[in-house]
Amino acid sequence: MDTELRYIKGIGEAREKLLVKLGIRTLRDLVVYFPRAYEDRTQFKAIGALIAGETLCVRAMAAASPRLTHIRRGLDIVKLRAVDDTGALEITFFNQSFVKDAILPGETYVFYGKVSGTSRKPEMTNPIFERDTAGSKTTGRIMPVYSLTAGLSQKIMRDAVRQGLDRCGDLPPNALLDSVADRLELCKARFAYENVHFPADGNALEIARKRLIFEEFFVLAAAMKFLRDRRADKTGRAFETPDFDEFYRALPFEPTGAQKRAVEETAQDMAQSRPMNRLIQGDVGSGKTLVAAACCWMAWKSGAQSALMAPTEVLASQHFRSLSEMLEPLGMRVALLTGSFTAKQKREVCGSLQLGETDLVIGTHALISESVSFFDLGLVITDEQHRFGVNQRSMLTEKGDSPHVLVMSATPIPRTLALIIYGDLDVSVIDEMPPGRREVETFVVGERHRRRIYDFIEKLVSEGRQIFVICPMVEEGEADDLKSAREHYETLKNEVFAHLRVALVHGKMASKEKDAAMKAFAGGDADILVATTVVEVGVDVPNAALIVVENADRFGLSQLHQLRGRVGRGSHKSYCVLFCAASGEMSRERLEIMRGTNDGFKIAEEDLKLRGPGDFFGSRQHGLPEMRIANLATDMSLLSLAQTEAEQLLRADPELRAPGNRKLAEQIERLFEINADKLN
Ligand code: ADP
Ligand code: MG
Repeated sequence: MDTELRYIKGIGEAREKLLVKLGIRTLRDLVVYFPRAYEDRTQFKAIGALIAGETLCVRAMAAASPRLTHIRRGLDIVKLRAVDDTGALEITFFNQSFVKDAILPGETYVFYGKVSGTSRKPEMTNPIFERDTAGSKTTGRIMPVYSLTAGLSQKIMRDAVRQGLDRCGDLPPNALLDSVADRLELCKARFAYENVHFPADGNALEIARKRLIFEEFFVLAAAMKFLRDRRADKTGRAFETPDFDEFYRALPFEPTGAQKRAVEETAQDMAQSRPMNRLIQGDVGSGKTLVAAACCWMAWKSGAQSALMAPTEVLASQHFRSLSEMLEPLGMRVALLTGSFTAKQKREVCGSLQLGETDLVIGTHALISESVSFFDLGLVITDEQHRFGVNQRSMLTEKGDSPHVLVMSATPIPRTLALIIYGDLDVSVIDEMPPGRREVETFVVGERHRRRIYDFIEKLVSEGRQIFVICPMVEEGEADDLKSAREHYETLKNEVFAHLRVALVHGKMASKEKDAAMKAFAGGDADILVATTVVEVGVDVPNAALIVVENADRFGLSQLHQLRGRVGRGSHKSYCVLFCAASGEMSRERLEIMRGTNDGFKIAEEDLKLRGPGDFFGSRQHGLPEMRIANLATDMSLLSLAQTEAEQLLRADPELRAPGNRKLAEQIERLFEINADKLN
């Protein structure tokens, strides 16, 4: 299976290089290079029934020898007339002079192509054709369509895959025991590989896909379980469980039941010598920071230091503010460390961390730089609005001796997906909002409502409230029809709201500037803040009562939900206005979901359904391992089945030592290699 490609006919050194570009290095890679689509060549029609525009097969006899004409240099034409009982088809081949000798008069062929001309005089140009015999290869069947690179053709790929399949014979890649496949009524591996590439018919293709999707999920689920079990072997240190009432009493508010539950779960983890590896999932505003604070406090009570890493300076500063407020009164020493600190400031923070004079440090990526070391790091928290790479996370953990790890995510992820993305983590969900939160009333509006919205802004500002206005991008010209923050800011500031204080913040500003602008707004220095999605992450402005999103149809629902979470954090009734310029039903319908619910999980599920996981998470960044054939949005039911099976198997054979499980072990290893940076 791991043999080289050169043994394959038609693949010389040059083409081998092209295949490598596609990630195909071995025979195995070749047979697991699944088609990106299929071309259905199973439809046949009689010539008399042909309609221009349709693409299909015609079985017809060559009425005479094809006629070759040289039109000019570089342009040859072969003309052929083919007939059946119902009529005649005029066929033209451009620059395929070999056809002249390949088609014999009086013989019957199958032609596959797009019909043109009229019903009376149908025509086909450059059809695919072959003799009408029992073992037809390129017509009358479903053909695979592969993703290619320049220099390769579908034909080359198909021939190569065909040979690859023949070479691996009865032993294609296979991680499933036959007994398991049989029990679940999945087809055999051989059948699956044959039919996913060269389906006998639509039904066979479906059966083949089902088996391969299941297998892919199965390997993934087993890998995740494997990781989790391996972690169980590590030993860290057990913290003492403090009386959290002491912590709660110092808070300005009563924690919610969900917050208490999450604190209990994390405290239980940290009381074990097995290091905690837990994800706290909670909608925007659900109060995750409090849980983080409680954990830091517990670590401190046991004499250990904590570190909290946030993806942006703005967020880090905000965490620093709110955590200091909660923890300093209890006696903890809290410090901030970001990339924009001067060398001297950094040295100071680092020094006190090393001496154990700081109990909790909050920072950006700056925390993982080499110069940072700890006296005794016992707890690592990451706030992953945008997921950190596993490497970054582990670089921080390595600064301690198997510290406990807590990951906070504000992106509500549907459970099934969470199991894959954070498959290695235990999960706590904060599913309750702090009291007094009122739902943010949401409107989806078009351009004709603009005047009224501006009046509304005016009214709210006169009542003392503040407003966010979100634009999809910073500069003009990135796309014609999109509002740019800078331009919109100019308009609002100079024309529409000349008498109000309008500020601007966007991602291309230096973080210092950004921070300053955000702080100023939070402090009430401006009435309206025009911004890009930089404000998506966690800034708290309780006085903000309205968020207006321009070109809202350009955002993902989950992102809109995050944005909407910027308001409704104080005691004021709050609103979200989504401008939808697009006339498409789909865009509108999507945004209407926002109007219907304030539940981030529900929104995430809908978003996932509508856009698929790739878009859902925005980019590769999302940390999903790449799937060859399975679709994380649509194949969910197979995923849970695979998870159940994998757990069962690993319970019976935790080290995958049984000979029958060796293939699975190999595939898991392969998965770890390919996705080294993506798996926890
Ligand atoms: P998120 O989960 O989005 O990180 P935060 O931790 O930032 O949420 O909390 C959002 C806001 O709610 C903060 O202003 C915080 O002080 C407040 N808050 C958190 N928990 C409670 C509570 N139990 N009661 C009242 N307010 C709370
Ligand atoms: Mg937060």
